Amino acid sequence: SLQAGIVGLPNVGKSTLFNAVSSSAKAQASNYRFCTIEPNVGLVDVPDERLQKLAELVHPDRIVPTQIEIVDIAGLVRGASKGEGLGNKFLGNIREVDAIIHVIRCFEDENILREEGAINPVSDKEIIDTELQLKDLESVEKKLQRTEKMAKADPKMKAELEVLLRCKTHLEQGKSIRSLDLSKEERNAIADLFLLTEKPVLYVANVDEASMHTGNKYSEALVASVTGENAEVIIMNNSIEAQIAEMENKEDQQMFMEEYGMTEPALNRLIRMAYHLLNLNTYFTAGVQEVRAWTIGKGWKAPQAAGVIHTDFEKGFIKAEVISYEDYITYGSEAACRDAGKLRIEGKEYIVKDGDVMHFRFNV
Ligand code: GDP
Repeated sequence: SLQAGIVGLPNVGKSTLFNAVSSSAKAQASNYRFCTIEPNVGLVDVPDERLQKLAELVHPDRIVPTQIEIVDIAGLVRGASKGEGLGNKFLGNIREVDAIIHVIRCFEDENILREEGAINPVSDKEIIDTELQLKDLESVEKKLQRTEKMAKADPKMKAELEVLLRCKTHLEQGKSIRSLDLSKEERNAIADLFLLTEKPVLYVANVDEASMHTGNKYSEALVASVTGENAEVIIMNNSIEAQIAEMENKEDQQMFMEEYGMTEPALNRLIRMAYHLLNLNTYFTAGVQEVRAWTIGKGWKAPQAAGVIHTDFEKGFIKAEVISYEDYITYGSEAACRDAGKLRIEGKEYIVKDGDVMHFRFNV
């Protein structure tokens, strides 16, 4: 499954967030399934109310949401790119994730140490960004040396050289690769570098209780500083989330959230946003045994989507029966959709849409 890694400076609320995600599932009032793979890695359900709506019509034995992996990458500090504080290990962890959840402290609390002095979300963001940019600069320069030599003999390498030079300049200006305007081909030319600053980022503005619905001057400064990046900002209070997650009783949880004017845990939003940031879509299978969500990339064709269930489905793909989620809900069953002409037969070239309810036919 896809991975999102939690990063941030010390004492900003990273562990609080990771614990909120993990205890939410351990508590009886479990909002999600969560299983700990390693102490700092967990698999968590992606909340999707469409699953419940489909299940109300189909009455399956079980409902199976799709999941993403959350990794707590603690310990990133200033100087990490030079190996400070196990820096290389943490940067290596970041290289493996598909998206970054960057927690930024936007709350004041004089009891909680902040090494860098007064609260400053923009500077916090820049400290981490700088470490990642320096590491990327190293990767780009290494490849640049090789490519320069090759470009002398092979004019076809010129284009690649050009891309690398643009990346270098951009990084040297203190900017992240995700904000560099590159075509698909140009991105492919640097794909083998797995650049850290190319990954999409979800910034968590960890604000105080009073600002959890409105944001505050700190979160506003953060929002202003990330425009132009392939990034989103979520405003939430990690402590409150941890408290909600630890409640064993669903009614207590509901009452607590009402007191804070919340309709759902902010974690639901966070997980959904991470999912969208990763450019993912969901399709469903709906049978009496299970109603299930499956994760695919945007633009995937039917056979590739079938392959998520089983590689045999992809290899032996013949056709797919497709009902849109909206039609399924409107007509109430597969049979009713068929009668109304809302069940389509699609072939190998069909691009699966978010919310499609699929049934695959395949050869074994
Ligand atoms: P980490 O070092 O980034 O993992 O930070 P922690 O999650 O361990 O949090 C550091 C301290 O800040 C802990 O004492 C938390 O209880 C506290 N903390 C976390 N989130 C908040 C918050 O939203 N408001 C306040 N006041 N304290 C928080």
